[in-house]
Amino acid sequence: MRYISTRDAKARVSASTAIVRGLSTDGGLFVPEVLPRLPEGAIGELRQMSYRQRAVYIMKLFLDEFTAGELDGFTRRAYGPESFDTPETAPLRALDANTSLLELWHGPTCAFKDMALQMLPHLLTASMGKTGSDKDVCILTATSGDTGKAALEGFADVERTKIMVIYPRDGVSDIQKLQMTTQRGGNVNVLAVRGNFDDAQTAVKEIFSDPGLREELAGRGWALSSANSINWGRLLPQIVYYISAYCDLLNAGEIREGEEVLFSVPTGNFGDILAGYYAKKMGLPVKRLLCASNENDVLTDFIKTGVYDRNRPFHTTISPSMDILVSSNLERLLFDLSGQSDTETAGYMEALRETGRYQVSGKIRAGIDVLFSAGRCDDAETLDVIRRAYREHGRLIDPHTAVALGVLEKFRRETGDKTPAVVVSTASPYKFCDSVLRALGETPESSGVELIGRLEEVSGVPAPAPLRALAGKPVRFTASRDKEELTQAVREFLG
Ligand SMILES: *Cc1c(COP(=O)(O)O)cnc(C)c1O
Repeated sequence: MRYISTRDAKARVSASTAIVRGLSTDGGLFVPEVLPRLPEGAIGELRQMSYRQRAVYIMKLFLDEFTAGELDGFTRRAYGPESFDTPETAPLRALDANTSLLELWHGPTCAFKDMALQMLPHLLTASMGKTGSDKDVCILTATSGDTGKAALEGFADVERTKIMVIYPRDGVSDIQKLQMTTQRGGNVNVLAVRGNFDDAQTAVKEIFSDPGLREELAGRGWALSSANSINWGRLLPQIVYYISAYCDLLNAGEIREGEEVLFSVPTGNFGDILAGYYAKKMGLPVKRLLCASNENDVLTDFIKTGVYDRNRPFHTTISPSMDILVSSNLERLLFDLSGQSDTETAGYMEALRETGRYQVSGKIRAGIDVLFSAGRCDDAETLDVIRRAYREHGRLIDPHTAVALGVLEKFRRETGDKTPAVVVSTASPYKFCDSVLRALGETPESSGVELIGRLEEVSGVPAPAPLRALAGKPVRFTASRDKEELTQAVREFLG
């Protein structure tokens, strides 16, 4: 199978090349030239399989250069008992009669980024072998919290790689910071930048676009790469859990084969929900995808009006992984719904860069209307959803998951729709103890890891082991730098 760029559909590359490059040289994102369909009878077969077997089956449809044996090895290492605390990997839990939670946070960092970032290093190093790339890879990532830690865990001690994560000194939660600064591994580095997330992000982008530095590092045997969600190797593992959730609903007797379901997805960069779109296009019976936003509702407005406009205030919310104004993966949806028009897609992205705004064609709007609905939940509503999920159903959920559940509730109220629904649950509530305790009526007096025990007491739900273990771990990384010093820090790290 060949992959093409959203900004130049004539440039065809193999899957391994797409994964090694991450981003196409024209600035576009790689997508499969033709999306594979689930073969006749596939769901019947997949129902009988474990999560890891389902992952091999589905990923194989996209990666014909890889053998099933290779993919089996990757899934064993990515989703095995050393990293996931349940053999189900992505368990489906009932919330009420026709609503389930798809828990994607049973990996080492307790957020859904693990589903992809536990797999990406294996796909990347194998792809480096297949493309004959002679350089080792240095992953450089700016993070506002969850991505950095998940990337560190994924790449720690992976051969032929090093990873450096840069976080804003004053911009991540106490628990997120401790998760990163206690990271194990001989090939990792974590650095605080004095500034906010934008400063960290801008500094990293400058390093990536510095041809002199690239050349210097290449001369020393290093290629720079990023772990963010534009890489096809991060998107592909996410398609698996939509199909797996459908199989689990069937196995639980909640639906009949062929019956349609809804997914409600807490959305930031549009990666997670885009994987759901691809699952639908492969033939999964999905009635609708609900795109759920917090107060940063640029996507809600886009799905309702066809106008994407990032010229609006940025809000800091209690669901920080969705505090995003530019959703990079939306480009892949526009490309697909335009009938794979690279010039049209490039035009929208150009308008976004120049004016911060674009309006899509009637054709794209129609494509969005038949499959997507959207809604938003502000912080007060989110806290209320967390409180009710716990009081009425005994389920402790994090603020991101609560946004998706709140949007589903609104959708049902407005439309009377009773389709069985899956709420995609993207983080452990223990990553956000402060907000969850407040939702349950507490007034937290301490912060960080000290609240983990308190939330256990109040809720009676045990915290995930990796978070409970944080309190006793030595801090390995304490350095902070000014953003002007980051290039030098990268040089030093690569020796
Ligand atoms: C990253 C993240 C999201 C948003 O996912 P996208 O793929 O960026 O849309 C939602 N919830 C949590 C907890 C996350 O870490």
